[in-house]
Amino acid sequence: MGVKCRENLGGKIIYRCDTCDTYLTHRGSLVSTRFTSGHGPAWLFFEVVNIYYGNAVYRNLVTGRHIVRYIYCKGCSTKLGWFYEMAFVNGQEYKEGCKILEVALIREETDDMPETPFGRHILTSV
Ligand SMILES: [Zn+2]
Repeated sequence: MGVKCRENLGGKIIYRCDTCDTYLTHRGSLVSTRFTSGHGPAWLFFEVVNIYYGNAVYRNLVTGRHIVRYIYCKGCSTKLGWFYEMAFVNGQEYKEGCKILEVALIREETDDMPETPFGRHILTSV
């Protein structure tokens, strides 16, 4: 997309792209952890930055028909998840405008728990 500067929403507990370390979002933006993608657990966030969007496509999900766009990391172009553009089922509208990130592709980081000599802090559960 040609935008070089990276946005940062702040936050005490933040999530970065596991591949290239780009800041993506923070815990305050987390809506739900009860999602799954084709590759495993996925989390729903209200606000995610430093991503770009693919074309809008119809997807028939467990929860009904949706218009979604795949989202990609601006830093490394990894497909991180998808964006809910529109839901056609009553009760699913809360997801509109929210983004799914695959847990396996993001890394949690906190202010008081930096990376240690023993390795990265990999997400398990909330
Ligand atoms: Zn990345």
